[in-house]
Amino acid sequence: MDRLLEKATRQHTKDHNTQLVLRTIYDSNAISRAELARLTRLTRTTISDVVTQLIERGLVEEVGHGRSSGGRMPILLSVIDDSRHLIGINLMDGELSGATINLRGAIQQRAWRALQHRDAESVLALTYDLIDELVGRATRPLLGIGISTPGLMDSSAEVVRRAVNFGWQDLHLKALIQARYRLPVYMGNLAHMAALAEYTCGGGQKRKNLVVIHIGHGIGAGIILNSELFHGDAYGAGEIGHAVVVEDGQLCNCGNYGCLETVADMRAIVRRVQELARAALVAQPHQGALDLAGIDFEQVVLAFHAGDPIVRQVIDEVGRYLGIAAAQLVSILNIERIVITGSVARFGQPLRDVIGRELMKHALPPLAQTTEIVVVEEQPDTILLGISALLLNHELGLIWLAPRRL
Ligand SMILES: [Zn+2]
Repeated sequence: MDRLLEKATRQHTKDHNTQLVLRTIYDSNAISRAELARLTRLTRTTISDVVTQLIERGLVEEVGHGRSSGGRMPILLSVIDDSRHLIGINLMDGELSGATINLRGAIQQRAWRALQHRDAESVLALTYDLIDELVGRATRPLLGIGISTPGLMDSSAEVVRRAVNFGWQDLHLKALIQARYRLPVYMGNLAHMAALAEYTCGGGQKRKNLVVIHIGHGIGAGIILNSELFHGDAYGAGEIGHAVVVEDGQLCNCGNYGCLETVADMRAIVRRVQELARAALVAQPHQGALDLAGIDFEQVVLAFHAGDPIVRQVIDEVGRYLGIAAAQLVSILNIERIVITGSVARFGQPLRDVIGRELMKHALPPLAQTTEIVVVEEQPDTILLGISALLLNHELGLIWLAPRRL
């Protein structure tokens, strides 16, 4: 074998062993070297070398003694949760938020910026400003920076090809951030990050296959296939928000007409409620319709739970469109768990029921019957958790996304 190649192979095996040992310690909380050797099937010598190196790097510590099965009491090892922190950045429509996070996904410090100007330069400057603050406040060595960004990315998730609301076009965001902070940078979109969060800490844990449909400002799906986030050939997997569902419908910001987003995202819901309320006012003026005419999303949710018939009708329509989208995903992928999340999840069980009914009508019944649809209200830190899963996987191999064999 070529000597360079041989060296590279040795290094690869070493990295692989290091990741395997670190992850095994991480998963077990406290474990002895002997137990590590048993679980990883590596030799005692290899375990001893790798552990020494992990202790030197400050990632692992000895935490006392375990129970003995006869001989000496074994020393137990643990991952130091705060040995490294990472920075997670969530770039949203109205706000940029971020946090430093430890190796268990626990938020350490938070920071945010309100988005005032939406031109490309201002948004980028504000993003730097936010990261500057978090880097400045970090109390531990930083593992890297993970960013959830809106818009469509290039196939390597390095360039934001187009983020309409930020005025970004072909922005080499990853390279810019990497050059400025000299840290590893990873990027993803909202739906993909929501899927990673659900995969690592949601009810879908331990499932190899999973679809998460994220509905907020825009609609996207994150697909986990065989324990791996599926990107597609051009990082466009799950862009269901721009599948046309209404022929000659409303103009979408992607340039087409009648995309799913134009009838089922937050803005579409508010617009539709206002439209029906105005029509009701013309037909038969009454106070209820008058209140709805100037309504915002928050009020739509309240009116829905108060049983307002106009809002109920709109959510019924939205559920039908989403059911059709879910049916297409089920027909192609036959994934048995579909999670609906994002702001629209606040319509809860009734929304789930319409989607379920519609799924039955639009997909092969035996496939639809075995598909579980769950509506999960988005927690404030869901996206940050997804981002940290991405980083912990890539940098330390702590979250095992892809199935790997020895
Ligand atoms: Zn569109």
